[in-house]
Amino acid sequence: MRIFDPHIHMSSRTTDDYEHMREAGIRAVVEPAFWMGQPRTSPATFIDYFDSLLGWEPYRASQFGVRHHCALALNPKEAEDPRCRDVLDLLPRYLVKDGVVAVGEVGYDSMTAAEEEAFQRQLDLAREFDLPVLVHTPHRDKIAGTRRSIDVLREAGLPPERVVIDHLNELTVAMVVEAGHWAGFSIYPETKMDERRMVALLLEYGVERMMVNSAADWGRSDPLKTREVGLAMLASGFSSHDVEALLWHNPAAFYGQSGRLQLDEPEAPAAGDFAGNTVMRGA
Ligand SMILES: [Zn+2]
Repeated sequence: MRIFDPHIHMSSRTTDDYEHMREAGIRAVVEPAFWMGQPRTSPATFIDYFDSLLGWEPYRASQFGVRHHCALALNPKEAEDPRCRDVLDLLPRYLVKDGVVAVGEVGYDSMTAAEEEAFQRQLDLAREFDLPVLVHTPHRDKIAGTRRSIDVLREAGLPPERVVIDHLNELTVAMVVEAGHWAGFSIYPETKMDERRMVALLLEYGVERMMVNSAADWGRSDPLKTREVGLAMLASGFSSHDVEALLWHNPAAFYGQSGRLQLDEPEAPAAGDFAGNTVMRGA
């Protein structure tokens, strides 16, 4: 099984995770910029974070045979914090970089006016820099948040096929499919969406314009959940062709719209260090 995880926060994972991911068939990932678990106190910390998503993390991934790309944005949770808003002025100098394949995650957390303004400004940036967009939907009041996100996207006039709306469930998938956007699903070990429910949705909606991810981050999560979905699909009678479409070709097509995806094998692990550091310390 060849897998592209379109939404996974590798900065919060270990090298063991990279090893297991490679064994499971994961060959490419996109890491969207997000909240770090505790509030940031200034835009300067975003600079180092963005730089690590473009430098150290792709280097670390390459040591395990995984292609790493990123999506950059001011995330919805911190869009509300006045200490972080100036990040919006820093984004243009990052969105031109090769490893950036989308603007994201953007969208709503608590559906405030400040979040909405940051969301709209970043949709303008996506248009200006000709990048696809990854939209996060809130975990509370998801139906209203998803509906409002679709309205904001329509007002912004972005082509629907250049947007994935993520963290969907049984209650929000239909409106996203109807609007013509890509539908994204984060599969978690215990809460929210799981692989059984995902297969039921795939039986109903098919695999076209659908993407699944593990979202793996600081919380309880599992970076191999994409493979679990593939196995559950095969057990339910889907063909390996459908599994490959969902787990590889769909994310490749979506992020391929950036013109910046690199999906060939990364260079051999021994290819030097990164700023004097390596993950093979002591080897
Ligand atoms: Zn995320």
